[in-house]
Amino acid sequence: MTSIIPDLKTREVWFLTGSQDLYGEETLRQVAEQSRAVAEELGAGLPVTLVWKPVLTSSEGIRRAMLDANSDDSVVGVITWAHTFSPSKMWIHGLDVLRKPLLHLHTQANVALPWADIDFDFMNLNQAAHGDREHAYILSRLNIARKTVVGHASNPAVVAQVEAWSRAAAGWDAAQNMKLARFGDNMRFVAVTEGDKTEAELRFGVQVNTWGVNELAEAVHSASDSDIDDLVALYEREYDVVAELRRGGERHESLRYGAAIELGLRSFLEAGGFSAFTTSFEDLGELRQLPGLAVQRLMADGYGFGAEGDWKTAVLVRVANVMGAGLPGGASLMEDYTYHLTPGEEKILGAHMLEVSPSLSSRRASLEIHPLGIGGKDDPVRLVFTADPGPAVVVALSDMRDRFRLVANVVENVELDAPMPNLPVGRAVWKPAPDFATSAACWLTAGAAHHTVMTTAVGVEVFRDWAEMARTELLVIDEETTLREFQNEVRWNAAYYRLAQGI
Ligand code: MN
Repeated sequence: MTSIIPDLKTREVWFLTGSQDLYGEETLRQVAEQSRAVAEELGAGLPVTLVWKPVLTSSEGIRRAMLDANSDDSVVGVITWAHTFSPSKMWIHGLDVLRKPLLHLHTQANVALPWADIDFDFMNLNQAAHGDREHAYILSRLNIARKTVVGHASNPAVVAQVEAWSRAAAGWDAAQNMKLARFGDNMRFVAVTEGDKTEAELRFGVQVNTWGVNELAEAVHSASDSDIDDLVALYEREYDVVAELRRGGERHESLRYGAAIELGLRSFLEAGGFSAFTTSFEDLGELRQLPGLAVQRLMADGYGFGAEGDWKTAVLVRVANVMGAGLPGGASLMEDYTYHLTPGEEKILGAHMLEVSPSLSSRRASLEIHPLGIGGKDDPVRLVFTADPGPAVVVALSDMRDRFRLVANVVENVELDAPMPNLPVGRAVWKPAPDFATSAACWLTAGAAHHTVMTTAVGVEVFRDWAEMARTELLVIDEETTLREFQNEVRWNAAYYRLAQGI
């Protein structure tokens, strides 16, 4: 039962330093030395492996470095820095072929000006203040999507911004390499879970395809008794399994069937190289339970998942799982369900029929069985828990017909006001920023979906960086948001994204 969340240290970001031959060998030696030190200091604070590359001084060298970054599957992005002055016509060919995310680091080797000693040799060596302006000019002229980070590598705020971007770059890489299996189609008559799968492959890289649910059922029903025994034993170790589901309990067979679903799903996904999937309660074929427990555990192991055929949310759950690699917290399918509308105390209760990831909670979950009002199948087994209190983000992906739109809300998960003994599902209760009414009005103004990914591992900055890589609209609802400005942003964006598409 293995996690498919990658160790981000296996992912590389290349540190590319620009200069030119004008200054002579001695200066270039210093440039190399200083840029290596900057890369080392910065790299020490990053979850990915930062790889310093020899200083670039020619159009041919820059183009070659970019082509090499493109073709190396372990490279998720490049950082550029114009130490000294690196004439930007040299960068045109290289930037034109670059297919990986780019971060422009505007920095310099020294922190303080050496007031007493400074001379023009120092000025010539340490001139990124204008060298990077030349660099940013060509980045802007070529319309290169990028993140710009300003400051010294010893500044934790600088490292944090680069870290957010490097996590987004790993998430972008995961999208580019994602194969998503849909079991059954979207829930009948639902609009927002639909979308253009061909455009999604072009835009995000993800391959979305459908398999008949009975192919999955066949894998489920061929799970071996001994594998089921082992998995049930693991459940009893990891969770508070209710008596009726335990070995010897009257409904133990239902737990065994839940284990068979997990074994069948995993084997199907592993055999096909899938990192995300969807199910549909209206299309379960020979499956005797709606997959609940299995889906919950697979999400916690890094798989993307969307219910009711919602492959767009499944993409986001997978991407968020990768971006949060190694951090406390997790990512899950979430659905706004119902409200606590007491004035001043407004909260949102989110859950799903079954499929919320236990990675949102650090507390031991209980494993229970209860009837499900829809679907007409056997009662499904499921993990019951409440998401930990703390900061979180919910993000939705809608297909607006001519393009995709991401909408994110910064939220705070809170403790329950009182126990909810009659709601046996994984759930979260949160307060949205900036306040409930503004958040909901903005969400509705944007036409954002009722399915989201909730992540408690990374913040909204990582999604901003990911959206920039995807060149996809992201509307953020946070502490700064007002409805009036948000409405304007939606209108302006509509014009911008139409124009940016060209004819
Ligand atoms: Mn749903």
